[in-house]
Amino acid sequence: MGRLLLCRERLMKKNDLFRVEIVDMGSEGEGIGKVDGFPFFIKDTLIGDVVEAKVTKLKKQYGYARLMEILTASPDRVEPKCPLHQKCGGCQLQALSYEKQLVFKENKIKNNLLRLGGLTAEQLRACMEPIVGMENPYHYRNKAQFPVGTDREGNLVTGFYAGRTHTIIPNTDCCLGVAENREILETILDFLKTYQIPAYEEATGRGLVRHILLRKGFATGELMVCLILNGRSLPHSRELVDRLGKISGMTSICLNVNERNTNVIMGEEILPLWGQNFITDKIGGISYQISPLSFYQVNPVQTEKLYRTALEFAGLTGRETVWDLYCGIGTISLFLAQGAKRVYGVEVVPQAIADARRNAERNGISNVEFFVGKAEEVLPEFYEKEQKERGQAARDMDTASQMRHPDVIVVDPPRKGCDERCLYTMLKMAPERIVYVSCDSATLGRDLKYLGNGGYVVTRVRGVDMFPGTGHVETVVMLSHKKPIA
Ligand code: SAH
Repeated sequence: MGRLLLCRERLMKKNDLFRVEIVDMGSEGEGIGKVDGFPFFIKDTLIGDVVEAKVTKLKKQYGYARLMEILTASPDRVEPKCPLHQKCGGCQLQALSYEKQLVFKENKIKNNLLRLGGLTAEQLRACMEPIVGMENPYHYRNKAQFPVGTDREGNLVTGFYAGRTHTIIPNTDCCLGVAENREILETILDFLKTYQIPAYEEATGRGLVRHILLRKGFATGELMVCLILNGRSLPHSRELVDRLGKISGMTSICLNVNERNTNVIMGEEILPLWGQNFITDKIGGISYQISPLSFYQVNPVQTEKLYRTALEFAGLTGRETVWDLYCGIGTISLFLAQGAKRVYGVEVVPQAIADARRNAERNGISNVEFFVGKAEEVLPEFYEKEQKERGQAARDMDTASQMRHPDVIVVDPPRKGCDERCLYTMLKMAPERIVYVSCDSATLGRDLKYLGNGGYVVTRVRGVDMFPGTGHVETVVMLSHKKPIA
C-alpha cells in the first residue's frame, strides 16, 4: 500500500507531482526543496532552481523526489562540461559554478563543526580559513578504473557505471581524467574488437576482460595501463603492447588476475607485459613508486596543498617527535619528516607499510619508522609501555619511549573517523598539538567534540577541495592543548 503523508496543508503520496524551490543542499550535493516545511531530496537540482518533481519515496521526516523539469534555473547553474554527468554517478555538482561548489563545501564543513563539533559561531569565525580550490577543476585525477562490458547490441564498450548500478555508460573521455585516457581506451577497445576478445560478464562469470586501470604520474608524465582479467593471459598481447607502447609517456603495461565472482575490482597478482610494474611520481619533492595495487592520492595537485597545510598546522621546528596515524603509504609522514626530529607512522594495511618503508628509503629519509597495526591498538600499547618504563626509570630521561613520546599527533582516518580508544589515548598522551586531516566533516565534528571535552581547542580550520565536481571535501584542523593554569 502506498504511503500517505500529511504535509500540514495537503496529503502527498508516491508519484505525486509538485512544484518547489530548492533552498538547500544535502551532504552529497543533492538539492533540498520544502513543501510546507517538509523536506524533499531532489537529485540534479541546485539552490535557486524552481522545479517540478515527482515523489519517489516518503519517510517520516523527509522524502525523495525525481526532477521532472527545471521551471526556473538557478543563477549559479553552468553548462556542465560532461554531457553524461547526470547519468554517471561521479559528479553530483558539475552543473554548479566552481565558485559556488567551493561555497557549498565550506558551508558543509562549518555546519558539521557547529552542529556536531560543538564549536560556537564566534569560535568558527576566528579559526575558519578560506577553502583551497583548484585553478583548473578538471582533468585532475591521476587514476581511473573503467569497467569493460557489452551494450544491448552486443558491442564491446567501456566507460562508467551509472549511479548505483552496474550498467556501463560508454565514455572514453571523462573530464576528470587525463587527456591520454581517451587514446589509450580506444586503442584497447579496438584491439579487443579486432581479436574478438570478450568482456567479462558478471552474471555468468564468463568472458575475460573486466576492467582497465589507468594511472599517470603528473610530475613525471609516466603512464601505466593494467588490464584486469578473469584469467591469467591475454591472447595476442604482443600486438596490444606494440600499439600502446607508441603512446608517449607509456612506461608500464601489465595484467592483474581476478578470477573471483566479486565486486572487488582488483585481484592480488600482477603479471608484467611490458616495461616496469610501477610508475614513479613526485609530490612536493618526494618521489613515490606506485604499483597497480598501491594506494595513492588521486589528485596530486591538491594533495600537495593538503600535505603542506598539515605540515604548516603541525608547526614543526625540527625538535619534535610526531606520530602520523592512518599513514597509508607514508606520504604525510615523509612530508613531516622533513621538518621533525622523528616521525612514527601507523597503518593497518601491511602492503601500504611495505610501500611506506620503500618510499622512505628511496628518498633517503631515515628519521621515520612505520608500524603495522590499528591506530587504536598500537597507540595504547605504546602508551602503556611508556608508563611502565617511566615508573621503572623515573630519573633516566633517555628511555626509548620518552624519545618517542609525541609532541604532535597527526591523524588522517578513513570516513568513519577515529576509534574512541585512539582518541582516548591521544588525550592521555597530551601532545602539544593535534592535526586532524579528515575526508568526512561529520565524523570530524564528532571527534572534535570528544577532543574538545578532553581539553583541546580548535585553533585553525582549512578546507581543501580534492574532488571538484563532486560533493566531497577534505578538511585540516589544528588543535592545541589548553594548558592548565599554573
Ligand atoms: N594519510 C594517507 C592515507 C589516508 S587514508 C595519505 O594521505 O595517503 C586512511 C588510511 O587509514 C588508509 O590507508 C587505511 O588503510 C588506514 N586505516 C583504516 N583503519 C585504520 C585503523 N584502524 N588503524 C590504522 N590505519 C587504518
